Amino acid sequence: MPDTSGTVVVVDDDDATRALIARWLEKAGLTVVTASSGADALAKLDGLDFVHCMVLDVMMPGMTGVEVLQTLDAEGRLGQLHVMMLTAHATDDQDLVRAMELGASDYMVKPFSGPVLVARVKAIVTRAERARIASERLRAAEQHATIDPLTGLYNRRNFERVLHEAASRARRHKAPCAVVMLDIDHFKSINDTLGHTEGDRVLVLIAEVIRQSLRGEDHAFRYGGEEFALLLPGADRHNATIAIERMRTALARRPHLAKSGVTRAITFSAGVAAVDTSTDFTESGVVDAADRALYRAKHAGRNRTEVDAASDEVLPRVSSA
Ligand SMILES: [Mg+2]
Repeated sequence: MPDTSGTVVVVDDDDATRALIARWLEKAGLTVVTASSGADALAKLDGLDFVHCMVLDVMMPGMTGVEVLQTLDAEGRLGQLHVMMLTAHATDDQDLVRAMELGASDYMVKPFSGPVLVARVKAIVTRAERARIASERLRAAEQHATIDPLTGLYNRRNFERVLHEAASRARRHKAPCAVVMLDIDHFKSINDTLGHTEGDRVLVLIAEVIRQSLRGEDHAFRYGGEEFALLLPGADRHNATIAIERMRTALARRPHLAKSGVTRAITFSAGVAAVDTSTDFTESGVVDAADRALYRAKHAGRNRTEVDAASDEVLPRVSSA
């Protein structure tokens, strides 16, 4: 059998049994954390990143093994956890049935043989490790599919999902949320005169400026070729406009330096729209409003921010052309 490594939590109220099982499993190369009660087990699980297997005694004073499983289940923490129950001959079958229904993987009846217990725990650990690797790969693949490789920002594919989440939160908390559409000015001319490689570097530059200007809870997306979308939860039109002007100032300080040595000032136009504290909005409506404001910014001469006309607040007109 190949080497197995993993973390096992051993829960038993009987000191001798607990110590014996821990010694067997440690000898087999496993990392063991012990707990002497249900409450102790719940606390220990909290502090561990990943547990490959929990060996769980059924009969314990205070909180039985089945109650431990019920608690974990109610808190939604049982999902990835593989559990092996330990029972005595005297144990009511009902407890075992309930444990298996809750998702326990296996059980052993006391008194048990060390080698068999170790073999079964190792089999569980191997399965758990495979599942952990698979779910990590899946997460990495999902991450990969939603990131724009050039700028490292989320791509458009992820925009609708994140927008939907942000809108739901805004409705639930009656909190504002701003949507900004941002487009690099004269990008075609940058590509035409400096080449596409420099165009790509300009996109990277803008993405950096955006990232540095946002708060941790904000989201930035590469929406299209030279178009970016920003989601600013908690921000109204006014706050969003301030954030965008911060980006404009930062960008003005960092003209693009082409590999040829030529520098070129980069500017953008932006349209701001926001969900206010009312719940009467549609997600596409907010995006359309930001798009219309962006269109106005382009037509008013570029290098400026326009705010959605539906605003009920009086806002300073912002431009720095
Ligand atoms: Mg016991």
